[in-house]
Amino acid sequence: MYIDNHVHCEPDEFRGEPKAFVEGCRERGVERMLVVEPLASCLKLSKMFGDFMPSIAVIRMDTASPQDIADCIDAGCLGIKFIASQHPYADERYWRLYAKLAELGKPAVFHTGYLAPLYDWSGESPEHPVWTEHMRPMQVEVVARRFPELEIVMAHYGNPWFEEGWKVSWSKENVYADLCGGTAIHRSIRFWADLFAPDGELFEDAIVKLCFGSDAHLRAADQFPVEEYIRFYGRIYDAIGLSPALRELVNRGNTARIFGL
Ligand SMILES: [Zn+2]
Repeated sequence: MYIDNHVHCEPDEFRGEPKAFVEGCRERGVERMLVVEPLASCLKLSKMFGDFMPSIAVIRMDTASPQDIADCIDAGCLGIKFIASQHPYADERYWRLYAKLAELGKPAVFHTGYLAPLYDWSGESPEHPVWTEHMRPMQVEVVARRFPELEIVMAHYGNPWFEEGWKVSWSKENVYADLCGGTAIHRSIRFWADLFAPDGELFEDAIVKLCFGSDAHLRAADQFPVEEYIRFYGRIYDAIGLSPALRELVNRGNTARIFGL
């Protein structure tokens, strides 16, 4: 079974019956999907999809307050997503946000690496471009050191700083990472196999910090973009000869524990 730790959905644009979509996912072995959207959308989606779709609230981190974080958690969100900061993630002006989340005992999801231009939630304009460098895994590493009690998931494995994503996720106890979205899927299986099993020898410290995720945009009840990621992860597992127990950990176990499912 799988828990997809990262999907998107515009509640007003989804076509078809949510119930049919949930059934289709369960037939494909997907027991839950964590949706990453602003709070208002999260609330609508949880009405539509029920327990199948717990949520992670995206906040605008340059204007949000610790109370905004508490409000999202009070409303039932399982964690907070940080993205598109005007300053590096490690900047002290964000520490009050991380401290609040740590105090509430809820995990942080950080977008790491490349972000498409003029991204909806970023507040980006031509005069104030997003700095992808602010979102490098090594920025998250500082947060992980400063807040060792905060559990962190680095979305997208730091693309294109995959080496940094690898280093930070296996060396920091409180940091996990996933291969969702972006272009991780366009790197060769041999590339990933070499990170998780260098020269063919399993590097367990790295693989145990991986989570399954797709970053799929859900648009219709009869479309299942998650399948592409089930195949992608499966090809990596096969290439490194991963045991059933560790497949289970990556596919659902890590996410279930981190988000308290
Ligand atoms: Zn995403």
